[in-house]
Amino acid sequence: MAASKCTRLSEALTGQLLESVDSVLFDCDGVIWRGDQAIPGAPEVINTLKKHGKRVFFVTNNSTKTRKMYADKLGKLGFNATEEEVFGTAYCSAIYLKNVCKVEGKVYLIGSNAMRQELEKMGVQPLGVGPDPISGVQIDWANVPLDQEVQAVLVGFDEHFSYMKLNRALQYLCNPHCQFVGTNTDTRLPLEGGKAVPGTGCLLRAVETAAQRQAQVVGKPSNFMFDCMASQFGLNPDRCLMIGDRLDTDIMLGSNCGLKTLLTLTGVSTVADAEANQKSDCPHRQRMVTPGVSVSMKFSRRCNDHHT
Ligand SMILES: [Mg+2]
Repeated sequence: MAASKCTRLSEALTGQLLESVDSVLFDCDGVIWRGDQAIPGAPEVINTLKKHGKRVFFVTNNSTKTRKMYADKLGKLGFNATEEEVFGTAYCSAIYLKNVCKVEGKVYLIGSNAMRQELEKMGVQPLGVGPDPISGVQIDWANVPLDQEVQAVLVGFDEHFSYMKLNRALQYLCNPHCQFVGTNTDTRLPLEGGKAVPGTGCLLRAVETAAQRQAQVVGKPSNFMFDCMASQFGLNPDRCLMIGDRLDTDIMLGSNCGLKTLLTLTGVSTVADAEANQKSDCPHRQRMVTPGVSVSMKFSRRCNDHHT
């Protein structure tokens, strides 16, 4: 197994790195913004990249917003961005259900209104958004009426997640022909001050456990989101740079897809994480680049044999 070292971004390397790519993919939370605040310098970096002819994409596992909602947020925070540059899991899951799962009918959705909107745009009819409280007794739960046109269960972030939703998903997934898709497996959503709340991965794991089946996952580090971008914009992976704050999603996506990768130290993963990753026995291919944000950055590439 080849070992390699982390490369900290320097000014000279930045120039070389930018010369070697045409497209730059940014994770959002922890990279260009934290909550509702832009990370200082990030809008300038992205706007400058675009001015110099680079294509920029925004790639997020967060399923709570449509592309339009993300484009609006980006604009408000000072980023020059369009809907077409946004690849979130609400949108990409809709493409996945349509193009990969070939769903023509309905989908039982554990998710948000934003997901419902993206599915409807794609001609998929979602059921289940909103609160679903329990009623009756256990034998009733096992016999909840099912819509025969449901062809898939999709699990994303759902603030109304409940025992009854879990039960309904299980009843649908007892049919082996019902497909099972999850937006992403992130188990925690980090918040300011070192706090966190449970992420979609917890909900997805609950449904997988109940159904005794594994979901097909759309979000990073799966290749699918990059495949969507690559097919829509004709991207050459070799000329793309993925910038993110998490080794297990962002950097892994880059690694899985053959992109150059840059780990920022503005979010979840730390230098210690990157170093521990370096010492592990998976082969790395380090790349660096940095758009010159006023934070220290580090490149890391992670092998894909840990999470496939
Ligand atoms: Mg992030």
